[in-house]
Amino acid sequence: MLNKFTGLVIVGLTLLSGCSDNNVKPTTTKPVTETTSQTNQIQVGKDYHSQSNPEQVKVTHIDLDLTVDFDHKVMSGYAELTFDKKDPKATSLIVDTRDLTINSVTANGQKIDFDLHDADDFLGAALEIPLPDSGNKVKINYATSPQASGVQWLTPAQTAGKKYPFLFTQAQAIHARSFIPLQDSPQVRVTYKATIRTPKELLAVMSASNDPNTERDGVYEFNMPQPIPSYLIALGVGDLHFKAMGERTGVYAEPSILDAAAAEFEDTESMLIATEKLYGPYRWDRYDLLILPPSFPFGGMENPRLSFITPTVIAGDKSLVSLIAHELAHSWSGNTVTNATWRDLWLNEGFTTYLTYRIMENVYGKDRYKQEAVLGYQSLEADVTNLTDKDQILAIDLRGRDPDDVFSDIPYEKGALFLREVEQKIGRDNMDAFLMEYFQHFKFQSITTDEFLAYFKKHVVANYPDKLDMDRINQWIFEPGVPQGAPMPESNAFSIVDNARNNWLNGEVNANQIDTQNWTVHQWLYFLNNMPDELSLEQLHDLDRAFNLTESHNNEIAHSWLLIAVKNWYQPAFPRLHDYLVHIGRNKLVKPLYKALSKTVEGKAIAKKAFDEAKAGYHPLTVKANQGFVE
Ligand SMILES: [Zn+2]
Repeated sequence: MLNKFTGLVIVGLTLLSGCSDNNVKPTTTKPVTETTSQTNQIQVGKDYHSQSNPEQVKVTHIDLDLTVDFDHKVMSGYAELTFDKKDPKATSLIVDTRDLTINSVTANGQKIDFDLHDADDFLGAALEIPLPDSGNKVKINYATSPQASGVQWLTPAQTAGKKYPFLFTQAQAIHARSFIPLQDSPQVRVTYKATIRTPKELLAVMSASNDPNTERDGVYEFNMPQPIPSYLIALGVGDLHFKAMGERTGVYAEPSILDAAAAEFEDTESMLIATEKLYGPYRWDRYDLLILPPSFPFGGMENPRLSFITPTVIAGDKSLVSLIAHELAHSWSGNTVTNATWRDLWLNEGFTTYLTYRIMENVYGKDRYKQEAVLGYQSLEADVTNLTDKDQILAIDLRGRDPDDVFSDIPYEKGALFLREVEQKIGRDNMDAFLMEYFQHFKFQSITTDEFLAYFKKHVVANYPDKLDMDRINQWIFEPGVPQGAPMPESNAFSIVDNARNNWLNGEVNANQIDTQNWTVHQWLYFLNNMPDELSLEQLHDLDRAFNLTESHNNEIAHSWLLIAVKNWYQPAFPRLHDYLVHIGRNKLVKPLYKALSKTVEGKAIAKKAFDEAKAGYHPLTVKANQGFVE
């Protein structure tokens, strides 16, 4: 998924003294802590975030039949699980649930006594089902709760069209269990079929086969023939309409934003073709986008065949479409080759971030890629400054922790930087050949960091004994920080911006004398993100007068500016700030603002007012992530 994105974090002090983009200091590796011994205690491949028992009895297919009840905010029906008994001695199937009402469990038409265990705080409640005497299917009749952590129910007022309600699910990391009883682990891959029943005027879409010409009759059938991990099962229901963008690509959205979305993302087909050329065939048939209401808590979610996308990147100038490249890239890294546990998330996100940069370079050219890479690097630097040592490790120890609480740029940008270093050492052609083979070799499998390393050692490191060594690779993966000498992205386009900012800060020019006519959105973000922490009221007025930043229509530029406004108590921007917080639920756009506001009593009052007004429309994950700032 794309939780993070470039350019939103005010970076560390190294950049504030006006140094240009090409002399950002490398981050030194911090001393190795007890991580190595900790790592040894981890049972590699064990999923600490599921209570299910796939090693004994593994679910292989799910048949769903669910009715969506908007009045009661409940989905009800059944999930029939087909299983494979791996261990002849196994006596029960255990699946994960959270806040589900289990009405009955049957097999071969007969009721089975089941045991719903006590709920764990963040893992939910294990559902234990004795294996039936014959057959390999059990049917669970159940209903979700209105508070299901993986489902957001929106009233008509919270949608773009204001006429119909909307529902979407978000299963990653461990929320599928809140709307389907299943083995909620990325190492359990299932195929699925579903029948979704909705009010007649609405359309349901899923991470499965979607027929753009389906009859709108309130009963929709889906089939996902490729085995996918549970976190990729996804459903959207709303006043959705379809517009084709290319032969294999199209967009689903509410009518009022359909044309704008299709225009913004019209390069999706070119991205798909470019990615296939680099990394081998797209294995999922169609690639469509579902544009969600602004409360979607993430940038995007790579649900197979149908990425879920925040509308906050519809900027009118394609400036934020690297998000689409990211979600598309997951079709290879993440959906085709999947992390086996959440400790291995970097295999999904690091590879995908590396691929994203390559796709952007291929479709939009080197200049744009370089600008985005520098912003990504700065964001990583900020995380390395702020995170504890153990949270800077790619193969992170998440035992006893909710994966939602540990999201950072580390798996994304540090993972990508590691692969960039490998590319620089062995050459781009060799890197591409390796990646193509890797996706082919592990297709439709879920693998651990250790499995990746064994493969990498045999198929890459062994071929380049003079260029790669396992000590350094292990340092990248098992130690905090970024190794000395790591590649550092640079962009000449940012030198101009550094000069302009310096001249303005030194008082040599007024803001309206800066020649910004040809600046890209990324140059603007770089300009704002690297401002000193403190600016005078006069300076803020000067910037706002010259560039109308408070009214910026670009959500990322607005974010960067509002963060500066909060830090410097620039009150003319506060009505926009309130509006921004109330209308956008994408966590990475609102969280830094709430965090900055929470530092003063007056700021907290502003935050609380916005939060109280916005809360009903926020996703449960956004509420959870920000509640602490307003209490
Ligand atoms: Zn991602």
